[in-house]
Amino acid sequence: MLCEMCGKDVAVPTMVKVEGTVLALCGDCSRFGTAVNPPAGAVLPADRPGRPGGGTLDDRLRTESRRREERDLFQELPDLELVPDWPKRVRQAREKLGWTPEELGKRLNEKKSLVLKLESGGFRPPDATVRKVEHLLKVRLRANPGELG
Ligand SMILES: [Zn+2]
Repeated sequence: MLCEMCGKDVAVPTMVKVEGTVLALCGDCSRFGTAVNPPAGAVLPADRPGRPGGGTLDDRLRTESRRREERDLFQELPDLELVPDWPKRVRQAREKLGWTPEELGKRLNEKKSLVLKLESGGFRPPDATVRKVEHLLKVRLRANPGELG
């Protein structure tokens, strides 16, 4: 449409109040008045509801969760460490209960292959799994670093 002041053809005119009258003006002329009803483009994307999150927010969440993991690791380390023969302890405790690797896996909500990997020492389980195994088999797999001699 055409600028109501200079007649220039503008795709998106700016609504500007000039001396009490709202006019649709081009960018050049809009500075002669006060802009009213800012165009949609002036609203920050982040303030629009229902829009998939921008990269900025995702990045921040990723960074925060990474920071949390690092802090958790740091807190775990000084307390308890897996004993050197923990894979053997898992197998012995399981056999004492008469459970097959499959059965232990089921109770851990894990695959049988993970149990076998645990018992061969080929997989360092996350602390949550270690705690579950200890609880299920009633066996200690961790010790204070001082106890490990
Ligand atoms: Zn103009």
